[in-house]
Amino acid sequence: MESKIIDKFGRSHSYLRISLTDRCNLRCFYCMPEEGIELMEKPSIMTLEEIIAISKTFVALGVDTIRLTGGEPLVRKNFEFLARELTKLGVTLKLTTNGILLDKYFDLFEEIGLKKINISLDTLDKAKNAFITKRDYYDRIMANIQEGIARGFQLKLNVVLIKDVNDKEINDFIALTKDQNVDVKFIEFMPFKGNKWDWSKGVSEEEILAVVQKKFGQIETLKNPKHSTSNNFKVSDHQGSFGIISTITNPFCGECNRVRLTADGKMMNCLFASKETDLLGPHRRGEAIDPIILDAIQQKKYSRDGMELKMDADHYEKNRSMISIGG
Ligand code: SAM
Ligand code: SF4
Repeated sequence: MESKIIDKFGRSHSYLRISLTDRCNLRCFYCMPEEGIELMEKPSIMTLEEIIAISKTFVALGVDTIRLTGGEPLVRKNFEFLARELTKLGVTLKLTTNGILLDKYFDLFEEIGLKKINISLDTLDKAKNAFITKRDYYDRIMANIQEGIARGFQLKLNVVLIKDVNDKEINDFIALTKDQNVDVKFIEFMPFKGNKWDWSKGVSEEEILAVVQKKFGQIETLKNPKHSTSNNFKVSDHQGSFGIISTITNPFCGECNRVRLTADGKMMNCLFASKETDLLGPHRRGEAIDPIILDAIQQKKYSRDGMELKMDADHYEKNRSMISIGG
């Protein structure tokens, strides 16, 4: 079924990303502001039943894919119940996680058919990992990645590249794709409230490709799946592939099919959206939310919430921090 959630550019939205919580067991500096965030009050957070009910409405409107994210989605209490119930809606369920708690859930994921898991891993160096995340879970995360690969899950490693932090590791990540069917996604450093963004710290798609080409020679450009948010490549004789999410230097918004739901039940049309639409309040009052969703999508801007040419601090500093949006 074609989604009825159609914006004024004719884009239909079939992909919902739900943030289950703004809590996290890591403190990645590019995501969580140094001074912390004001955590959402419990009553303002969607209950699991509310997440399921709101998801049902999205599915009835044509959403066929749901990605669970956060904060860290696996710290949400009774995650198993939620995952099972969402699977019953007939959607493709996906997950973005920092990987720490995956060992507790692999069996469940096999059972319910959740195969696609994105794991954040910015470095292959244990000490640097502790510096970036301000916690020491590297060994557990790496063990879980190995277990996930061995069990045949489709894993993507999300790597946010930051100059003088992990930019010298680009080819170490590419080397991981040689004998393992793993996909590495390099993400250009993006600005969110409180993360001290400055593009001079970022590494562009062009720079990444030049580094890989210099070391590995010819790289194949892969055909991007429809609605892909990354440009995808492969070193010719490698099993796995790599992609670049070039939000800053080469945004991919034209075919966007995504909408977001924050943990406190606000619909966001874009990661950078400054306008949010409350769905939880009306849902709690017993009002129908499908007309609200269809109306809200009309506000969607073509690209990066209107920051078409440049990332504008006046714009993103007024928005949420990444940890409370759900990447
Ligand atoms: N905790 C989970 C995780 O880390 O995968 C899910 C939530 S996290 C906010 C989702 C993704 O957003 C991660 O891959 C993370 O690297 C990415 N992210 C966070 N802040 C970012 C930033 N400033 N620029 C680019 N990507 C960012
Ligand atoms: Fe937590 Fe993920 Fe943000 Fe890191 S990127 S602080 S793991 S939500």
